[in-house]
Amino acid sequence: MRDSIPSLAIVIPCYNEQEVLPETSSRLIALMHAFVGENMVQPDSYILLVDDGSKDNTWSQIEALALKYPEFRGLKLSRNFGHQHALLAGLHQANDVTITVSVDADLQDDLEAIREMILKYQQGAEIVYGVRDDRGSDSVFKRNSALLFYKLLSRMGIESVYNHADFRLMSQVALDAFRQFGESNIYLRGMIPMLGFSSDTVYYKRAERFAGTSKYNLRKMFSLAWNGVSSLSIQPLRFVTFCGFTIFSISILLSLYALYSYLFLETTMGWTSTVLPIYFLGGIQLLCIGLLGEYVAKIYKEVKQRPKYIIEKMLR
Ligand code: UDP
Ligand code: MG
Repeated sequence: MRDSIPSLAIVIPCYNEQEVLPETSSRLIALMHAFVGENMVQPDSYILLVDDGSKDNTWSQIEALALKYPEFRGLKLSRNFGHQHALLAGLHQANDVTITVSVDADLQDDLEAIREMILKYQQGAEIVYGVRDDRGSDSVFKRNSALLFYKLLSRMGIESVYNHADFRLMSQVALDAFRQFGESNIYLRGMIPMLGFSSDTVYYKRAERFAGTSKYNLRKMFSLAWNGVSSLSIQPLRFVTFCGFTIFSISILLSLYALYSYLFLETTMGWTSTVLPIYFLGGIQLLCIGLLGEYVAKIYKEVKQRPKYIIEKMLR
């Protein structure tokens, strides 16, 4: 049990969220006032809105909020970097508080659950995962594709918290550890469990999006899924190597058969010499490409070192 009062930063990535931001911000400010009033968090706690290169009025709304309320801060990225990177930018920026809570702008995640998260932190957890109780508010496609994806991930040895998106509390201790991750292909849900530390979960009912439409189109969903797989697992490359190895083994058997046919059975002239290298080279090539791929993928991940996001403006 901890007894000091933590300072809190609520980090919210926003991409074209002008329809929900007025409602989200008024609920957040009420929540923040309640927390401060109940002595749950320090009065210097704040809400950090990260504009991920929105094309609508999101940034001007954030500017107005930051001007009007001391509780709001704004961070503007130079273009759309995607949800994960926008969230990362916000988490990196919030290094002056004891705890951060990341939550979406669209009010799908139950803001009241933050209260429970803070209590779990007070009981000793460094990371608290918000886990949705049911997916009743999602479309059948989204529900099933998500289920399939979690199964696929666990098959590949990636530990992830089932039905947890990016609604979570992280203490500064956990964030400091997380800052050591230098990689630019990020999939936060898969990376955070790697940190260790004592963690806890809070269950909540996920609501419909308050207004506007999902900013995750099919392309972004697939890209997030593939990024999750490719940056956390080398199983796909292993699969290629495995295919190569299997074909290579079969080719040896077939080669023996071809040689046997050549020596002892009647064969068409040229058949053996045509068929042998096809089997053999095909197998060897796949094996080698898979093997090379293992190394190339590792180098590729490390070497680019591009900035994960670019900050255009900071308002506080
Ligand atoms: N988002 C973002 N950049 C993007 C896409 C989404 O910052 O390129 C934000 C978005 O504003 C929201 C959160 O990420 O706060 C989750 O997006 P959304 O609610 O559209 O996803 P869904 O709940 O449909 O999976
Ligand atoms: Mg949403």
